Amino acid sequence: MPVCLGCGEIRRIVNFLMATSCPNCGKKNAIRYWIVICCSVFLSILSWLKPAGLLPFWAGEILLLIFTVIIITDIEYHVILEQMTVAAYIVAIISGWFIHGWIKTLLGGIVGFLIFLGLYFIGKAFARRLSKKENGPIDEEALGFGDVQLAGAIGFLAGFPYILPALLMAIVLGGIVSAAVILFSLIRKQYQAFLTIPYGPFIIIGGIFSLYYYLV
Ligand SMILES: [Zn+2]
Repeated sequence: MPVCLGCGEIRRIVNFLMATSCPNCGKKNAIRYWIVICCSVFLSILSWLKPAGLLPFWAGEILLLIFTVIIITDIEYHVILEQMTVAAYIVAIISGWFIHGWIKTLLGGIVGFLIFLGLYFIGKAFARRLSKKENGPIDEEALGFGDVQLAGAIGFLAGFPYILPALLMAIVLGGIVSAAVILFSLIRKQYQAFLTIPYGPFIIIGGIFSLYYYLV
């Protein structure tokens, strides 16, 4: 159930949908509430005008819903919920099968998962070495296992070989944004070596890009 971030009171669904202030403490909806609604409506219209990868509109809407939740939780909490990963796998496999047939879909999922699994272990080894040098554990991984699972789901959706440019785009975009964040924090003199950025949104953007770029 949705709860009020001000007082923790459970919000009634009607209350939540009508976007009224909390009846208990009067807290108004955060600006994020409106950003999410506006972006969702905008993206829905876009996917109606130009469906991703020849998918029917309603299937695109389900994908949009799942991806939106993953992107928000990854940005705000640096986690990708397992429930959403399972949902993403189910919808991605059915959609991928519809778009490419089952061989390309299966190959795409396996390749996507394995590539990010490799990167995950490289990141882990790198972090272990750094934490030995700095005498302190790193509490957050550069690339979480949730990202690996997401890369697998996106692989099923994008199919093989289209998962390759999709993941390349995710890595390059993630690198550019990381560099920008580091530069910005250096300028503000608040540099932290282990600053992590969420990778989920970039993986999703890469997957959607490949659906639009290669299949229209
Ligand atoms: Zn409240």
